[in-house]
Amino acid sequence: MRPFAYFERLSQAFHDYPSLSKILVVSTISGGGLIVYSEANPSYSNNGVETKTRKRKVVLLGTGWAGASFLKTLNNSSYEVQVISPRNYFAFTPLLPSVTCGTVEARSVVEPIRNIARKQNVEMSFLEAECFKIDPGSKKVYCRSKQGVNSKGKKEFDVDYDYLVIATGAQSNTFNIPGVEENCHFLKEVEDAQRIRSTVIDSFEKASLPGLNEQERKRMLHFVVVGGGPTGVEFASELHDFVNEDLVKLYPKAKNLVQITLLEAADHILTMFDKRITEFAEEKFTRDGIDVKLGSMVVKVNDKEISAKTKAGEVSTIPYGMIVWSTGIGTRPVIKDFMKQIGQGNRRALATDEWLRVEGCDNIYALGDCATINQRKVMEDIAAIFKKADKENSGTLTMKEFHEVMSDICDRYPQVELYLKSKGMHGITDLLKQAQAENGSNKSVELDIEELKSALCQVDSQVKLLPATGQVAAQQGTYLAKCFDRMEVCEKNPEGPIRIRGEGRHRFRPFRYRHLGQFAPLGGEQTAAQLPGDWVSIGHSSQWLWYSVYASKQVSWRTRVLVVSDWMRRFIFGRDSSRI
Ligand code: FAD
Ligand code: MG
Repeated sequence: MRPFAYFERLSQAFHDYPSLSKILVVSTISGGGLIVYSEANPSYSNNGVETKTRKRKVVLLGTGWAGASFLKTLNNSSYEVQVISPRNYFAFTPLLPSVTCGTVEARSVVEPIRNIARKQNVEMSFLEAECFKIDPGSKKVYCRSKQGVNSKGKKEFDVDYDYLVIATGAQSNTFNIPGVEENCHFLKEVEDAQRIRSTVIDSFEKASLPGLNEQERKRMLHFVVVGGGPTGVEFASELHDFVNEDLVKLYPKAKNLVQITLLEAADHILTMFDKRITEFAEEKFTRDGIDVKLGSMVVKVNDKEISAKTKAGEVSTIPYGMIVWSTGIGTRPVIKDFMKQIGQGNRRALATDEWLRVEGCDNIYALGDCATINQRKVMEDIAAIFKKADKENSGTLTMKEFHEVMSDICDRYPQVELYLKSKGMHGITDLLKQAQAENGSNKSVELDIEELKSALCQVDSQVKLLPATGQVAAQQGTYLAKCFDRMEVCEKNPEGPIRIRGEGRHRFRPFRYRHLGQFAPLGGEQTAAQLPGDWVSIGHSSQWLWYSVYASKQVSWRTRVLVVSDWMRRFIFGRDSSRI
């Protein structure tokens, strides 16, 4: 069944028969709780008189993966949405490494946010500004524009909200290593990619000037990539292709001077991928002449040299021409400040519940890279689960009683299914049988709370943080917009979903991530693909899969056409090395 089909039908029934909506209580296990509906029709007040409600104001911070997919999906005209972001476009980040070398042009991977939101029947307005403070007490966000906003040139203003959706993403993490901020390039935004492109070409031009000795030329053409994650690896392979397919033809003397080095602190690159992909990538890089230094932790950077420490503690210093820093993400200052205000100061990202509601706040939601879901544990709720399932209050559960609540448990606690899968079990019955066998119990018909506890005691080990990817952010944006769409349809007072944790009451299914697979382009028209079910494919065929997936994932037909024509242009004419 589609996740919200049930709610759709329910709200349709309310619409057709208003009296139906008087009292309806649907109870189900959910963190030991209930899904509660009452007075569900928004257009009727208690005495049956139709009331007109003012539009509810949603403030959305950010126009990245999470924000754009929220905007694209939201489809309820009873909201007015105020989008605030320092950039007035959405950027397709998976193609940023291609922008660094001109395989794809910068304008081909961006779409104006007003274009994305224009198609909706929702009233939407945009402010190009950065939010620097969130005040949950007065329900205001404080913003700063780069442009003067009034005749006095005042750049700061505040905006009220009924609902706040925080999707501000994250920033590059320097781990406070000295010299990184000042001397390294990051690869996070479109401007970063453009800067890298010009710096690469500058390096070749500088190294071609007269009056330099070979050592200096070599230093200028030494490109260092820090971080062996997907972004660092993809950039290193793009750069390798750019140098070997295009630049060496134009700068023949530079051929023997160019060097690409990849520094990775762990024992392998691409550690989040299958071992076969990691091995293939490391071997390919070695064949290509990319110097992969594993177990190298950068300790210091100055304007000409980078120092790295090996696991044995030896520090080596190498001269460089350009460094691209890609070691992971950190928290934005506005989020840090907000987390301090709400007592989450010691975390890396905003903690939300499974409905993406920020813990400890009313009507504030957070999604994408700036947030993490705090998945509720089964063992925290085990007594409540037992009580709900034991309908006759007999102190034991029959298999029938247990099966009746099972799908709710699996909905509420995705770790149960993951655990069954990891153990090769086909259903919860297998788990119960195993627990009973371990306890030496042979009563297969009924189980008490201790037996339920021992059956489920391991499942919470499967709780995992979701990765900080566009895929997660986009799915969360879509999910939240669908919740918002429903919220107005079924309720008189469409405040955010009920927050009370202990009671575990909720109106919508919790967010559930569906992993669709991931790619690691390795250069030379070869890509590694890891698809669901641990299906691994490496080589030219996956490169074609990569082309088709990335073309289909574009947010508009305009960018799709631009990206595909950029790829064709590159096939025919190569990459452009003009420094403009
Ligand atoms: P973002 O997309 O970063 O968007 C944040 C938004 O908030 C931006 O619009 C920003 O301008 C705005 N903002 C920032 N500060 C403020 C503020 N103070 N007030 C208001 N607005 C603010 N993921 C994948 O799934 N697959 C990939 O292949 C992939 N490749 C990647 C390649 C690169 C080079 C990079 C950098 C990332 C890649 N990712 C990939 C990760 C993916 O881009 C992120 O996980 C994703 O962008 C997170 O989405 P988000 O909406 O949370 O944040
Ligand atoms: Mg019973």
